[in-house]
Amino acid sequence: MKVSFKDLGLVNTREMFAKAVKGGYAIPAFNFNNMEQLQAIIQAAAETKSPVILQVSKGARNYANQTLLRYMAQGAVEYAKELGWKKPQIVLHLDHGDSYELCKSCVDFGFSSVMIDGSALPYDENVALSRKVVNYAHKYDVTVEAELGVLAGVEDEVSSEASHYTKPEDVIDFVKKTKCDSLAISIGTSHGAYKFKPEQCTRDPKTGKLVPPPLAFDVLKAIEKKLPGFPIVLHGSSSVPQEYVDIINAHGGKLPDAIGIPEEQLRKAAKSAVCKINIDSDSRLAMTAAIRQHFDEFPGHFDPRQYLKPAREEMKKMYIHKIINVLGSNGKAR
Ligand SMILES: [Zn+2]
Repeated sequence: MKVSFKDLGLVNTREMFAKAVKGGYAIPAFNFNNMEQLQAIIQAAAETKSPVILQVSKGARNYANQTLLRYMAQGAVEYAKELGWKKPQIVLHLDHGDSYELCKSCVDFGFSSVMIDGSALPYDENVALSRKVVNYAHKYDVTVEAELGVLAGVEDEVSSEASHYTKPEDVIDFVKKTKCDSLAISIGTSHGAYKFKPEQCTRDPKTGKLVPPPLAFDVLKAIEKKLPGFPIVLHGSSSVPQEYVDIINAHGGKLPDAIGIPEEQLRKAAKSAVCKINIDSDSRLAMTAAIRQHFDEFPGHFDPRQYLKPAREEMKKMYIHKIINVLGSNGKAR
């Protein structure tokens, strides 16, 4: 049975992106695959009155079950209202759809936005696949994110050795032919908690921590020039907060040289045509850090609520920080 996202109380990204590009801020796109993450995201968005994109990857859909996820998203809208957020602006988005069939299934299942990632395909095949998804999704008013350029790193099934920056000379043709609603680009962000190899970085002599290479803002600027006002998306934009990495490593974890995108660079990007910033690893790190610390302090605890509660609190704190201090989307969905 087909379900429209509108019946679930969700919204698509069209209006939200147009406002974000104009207003010089970005919408948070947080991945979720369990209840505690979802609670933390919704509490953070409701308290800050920030529009929010709930992202579900193919892996998350397999992990949590597609039917359950749909009702969790619907529940999230009702929960947000209960928290006093009168008009919640919540998007349910497929992250890295890798086929027409998967995107179609998500449209039919109540998603309000889908990503078709044909970035690993030859240009013409990427255009054709993206166009096909757009044709179907737009019939149901579902918005579509397409991708041009390749990101390095691993995210569920998506993995690539090296990144290839988006070529600014391709973007007008791509957007015109595919009619996509937003475009994910590659300017040096990367998936996962190991965004850069040590040899790509310099090392801070004081802390011994890696300092990553800067994002290619010249490429972003060139793309903005070609597509004025068009919504741009950044994947792989976790900052990998070193305090979480340190807590994890101090409590039996092993994440040597985990490194992300410095927040000041994301802040700069959010002020541009970048209107959606994807954050997944930071939530994983916040959760893991809180749980590891809790287990060290309370070795006798075995009720999941005892360690998931502080994990949820830590994620919420991190989400609120991103919304207010990095993306600037607070107060944009009253
Ligand atoms: Zn991604």
